[in-house]
Amino acid sequence: MQIRAAVARARAPFELVDCELAAPGPGEVLVEVEACGLCRTDLSAKDHGYGTPLPAVLGHEGVGRVLTRGAGVRSLEPGQRVIMSYGACGRCPSCAARMPAYCDHAMDYNVFGRRPDGDSPITLDGAPITGHFFGQSAFATHAVAAVTNLVPIDDDLPAAMMCALACGVQTGVGAVVNVLRAGPGDAVGIFGCGTVGLSAVMAARLAGCESILAVDRRRDRLERARALGATGVLPSEGLGRAELERALRELGGLTRAFDNTGSAPIIEAAFAALRRRGVLVLAGVSPPRATVAFDANRLMSSGRVVRGTIEGDADPTEFIPQMIAWYRRGALPLEALVTTYPFAQINAAARDMTEGRVIKPVLLMR
Ligand SMILES: [Zn+2]
Ligand SMILES: [Zn+2]
Repeated sequence: MQIRAAVARARAPFELVDCELAAPGPGEVLVEVEACGLCRTDLSAKDHGYGTPLPAVLGHEGVGRVLTRGAGVRSLEPGQRVIMSYGACGRCPSCAARMPAYCDHAMDYNVFGRRPDGDSPITLDGAPITGHFFGQSAFATHAVAAVTNLVPIDDDLPAAMMCALACGVQTGVGAVVNVLRAGPGDAVGIFGCGTVGLSAVMAARLAGCESILAVDRRRDRLERARALGATGVLPSEGLGRAELERALRELGGLTRAFDNTGSAPIIEAAFAALRRRGVLVLAGVSPPRATVAFDANRLMSSGRVVRGTIEGDADPTEFIPQMIAWYRRGALPLEALVTTYPFAQINAAARDMTEGRVIKPVLLMR
């Protein structure tokens, strides 16, 4: 069928053009896309050699309605509304352990945008282009999505808010709840206050943490963090590693720290500011081959933990329904993060996100 899709080429604006979308194959469904969030990963894939073959239809935070099913699909009926999250094989050791973010095939199914058989459901001017990014490629009016990515949702939930749950919010909330396992008595530091960091602030409040310190270069983001539950803020603009470490120590140090900046000086300062048995979790993307340095004896003798996370260790089929329950209770005020744009304004949405004018842009396809 003919669809309208935003085609990405390196360091060029997205271009809305007509493409041909194949019928869903085994284990896939055709989804009419209502909305799709724009995430930094989409722009990295387009402009920064993330490994996604271009041209491509990107978009990995889609919400829509199932129209038709491919062979063997029983779990979803046509008409069912779904959130499209990230892809995983469902069979490897990580998938079997319900840790699909660490799937052996995560790069193939997500970043490289390949179906299991290697071909693409989208063709442009008769030639296949990358059309299964994160098992969906949802910057389009329609997507062929892998059933393993999909989480059913009720009809009354607003599409734009649900998009945010697919990746960025899942990462921030999951990091606090699943990885840091923060709770009452914890002094949490959250480094970087975009979608992921502000979601982590919401989750830390939900978890009842004793103190929540938000750190960012931008004061407007720190004000947002305060409104969402941060009990303290620390502007990091102009602070070097040692100055940031000193400021964190003067505030009493941290039992839990969450970095989503990917910046080595910030990660090193966060590590140094941990109290005994403190935990530091990294979710930010660093430049290729970046390294961070820790004092090995301090790591050992204080029982500190440093670890990374993808998608907040969340299994979307369990964690997204949990987040929706929190959203319905008012504990995840996603409206504070989301700004909507008509699909045709995708380039304005990308520019506004890059320039820090908005937190989570969401494109409305209808
Ligand atoms: Zn797997
Ligand atoms: Zn993302």
